[in-house]
Amino acid sequence: MDIIEIIQKKRDKNKLTKDEIDFFISNYTNGSIKDYQASSLLMAIFLNGMDEEECTNLTLAMANSGDLIDLSKIKGVKCDKHSTGGVGDKTSLALIPLVSLFIPVAKMSGRGLSHTGGTIDKMDAMGMDTSLSMDAFIEEVNTIGGSIIGQTKKIAPADKLLYALRDVTGTVDSIPLIASSIMSKKIAAGSDAIVLDVKIGSGAFMKNIQDGETLAKTMVDIGNLAGRKTTAVLTNMEEPLGFAVGNSLEVIEAINTLKNNGPKDFEELVLTLGSHMLFNTNFTKSLNEGKKLLKEQIENGNGLKQLEKIVRYQKGNEKCLYDYNNFPLSEKIEVTSTSTGYIKSIDALMIGESAMHLGGGRQFKEDSIDLGAGIVLNKKIGDKVDKGELLFTMYSKKHSEKIQKDIQNAFVITDEEVKTPKLILETF
Ligand code: URA
Repeated sequence: MDIIEIIQKKRDKNKLTKDEIDFFISNYTNGSIKDYQASSLLMAIFLNGMDEEECTNLTLAMANSGDLIDLSKIKGVKCDKHSTGGVGDKTSLALIPLVSLFIPVAKMSGRGLSHTGGTIDKMDAMGMDTSLSMDAFIEEVNTIGGSIIGQTKKIAPADKLLYALRDVTGTVDSIPLIASSIMSKKIAAGSDAIVLDVKIGSGAFMKNIQDGETLAKTMVDIGNLAGRKTTAVLTNMEEPLGFAVGNSLEVIEAINTLKNNGPKDFEELVLTLGSHMLFNTNFTKSLNEGKKLLKEQIENGNGLKQLEKIVRYQKGNEKCLYDYNNFPLSEKIEVTSTSTGYIKSIDALMIGESAMHLGGGRQFKEDSIDLGAGIVLNKKIGDKVDKGELLFTMYSKKHSEKIQKDIQNAFVITDEEVKTPKLILETF
């Protein structure tokens, strides 16, 4: 087999066989296929696409390029969850404690990059150990019910190499490449069922609903063809999720949610994704039954106690849950509204980028972050605001007028009443 023939075949809009895809992935991972040849094939895929079978074969080849996590020592049907990334997305921190009261959840997460945050950085804000050995990870799930650790370097190494190449060759925004990249890591992570949160809007990868639907359907097909019961929920990312953006700030919001005092949209997302996780693993017979059960665990405090157990097992500071002074928080500046009206829109991308510039996120992988930096919105779309009323609070070690202006400009205020946007858009 020859990589040049494979490139020409995709260039000429033909379908690649499983053997050809396997050949490409194994030889690119071992260095025999050069970056310029891989770039050329990626661009041919970007331009000419891949069908369902090709996407599945690419996903499995990438999953098989590294370790396949064996979760068979954990009893029960395991369910994983993945978000395509958004602004203020602290979902796993409230969701995993709640769901893991009923079904085992062995979750691997990543760090944040650019305007999207990562769960592992948020866990750093509580000083948690996210690099447990595989044995400790499995033992934690078997004793407590749930665990979240960082994805090891050995998961889908082909994806790591290809993602870095896509980043510098204009081939990131391709649905077959995004779908196979995400699903290769989820399949390698070993769970039986997968719930995907596909975010749509200015703060997300997918800017419009049509692309989001195609990505969701592609990932669901790949997951099901690979023998994992997969569901995708399309959710709105036009405005940040909840009020808080930034690591410590988001953890505090997730804890407040487990204390039955969270933002409405965030709690709705947690209950919706959680109900799919319980339904997909046959723990409940309907989504409503799952939502009710999970809400009860918020009201009776069991979800918070479960988070405390996870924090303690992973050597974090459990006092954080009861006294927020234990979190690193940077110097704050409160900013008020310059006009009266209703919030028409809040540009999630602008808020995410501003939180990054305040020190709360990384522009490049090597950047260090200020766990205490970020933004807390005081208003969401549809809310009424008066001139002089608090609009948002910025936390940073390096405040700047430019960032403050950018955040102010992210809010569009109008005279007319505005409806609260729908959060859950569709399910596949
Ligand atoms: N997230 C991933 O893991 N891969 C992509 O290609 C895009 C988002």
